[in-house]
Amino acid sequence: MSSSDCLFCKIAAAELPADVVYRDDAVTIFRDIHPQAPTHLLIIPNRHVASASQVADPQVFASLFSAATAIAQDHALRDYRLVINNGAGAGQSVFHLHVHLLSGRALQWPPG
Ligand code: 5GP
Ligand code: ZN
Repeated sequence: MSSSDCLFCKIAAAELPADVVYRDDAVTIFRDIHPQAPTHLLIIPNRHVASASQVADPQVFASLFSAATAIAQDHALRDYRLVINNGAGAGQSVFHLHVHLLSGRALQWPPG
């Protein structure tokens, strides 16, 4: 999929509206439209990559996870879960890599 028909590319480029809480050259962070916890953020690379297994440059993961822990600190979140669903069978529905940050309620383990 190219960026021209990718929902999250359009959010990263501010071509579609989203509740963006942070943006820099590498990543965009916005609120999930169907939150699964009181705080449910999505951290995405601005450059399109379909899924975690397609990442060639480990700096992509460094950018995503350092942004995730920084936004958690900014929002004074102490307990939170970072999740990547890789592939439809694991629950991935949007094929632009994203890290879910879930917080604000007790989280069960293992996830369903
Ligand atoms: P996945 O199932 O791929 O791991 O997660 C995709 C997430 O994107 C879902 O939690 C879904 O609610 C969220 N989502 C899908 N479309 C939109 C949208 O247009 N805007 C926002 N903010 N979130 C979306
Ligand atoms: Zn994309």
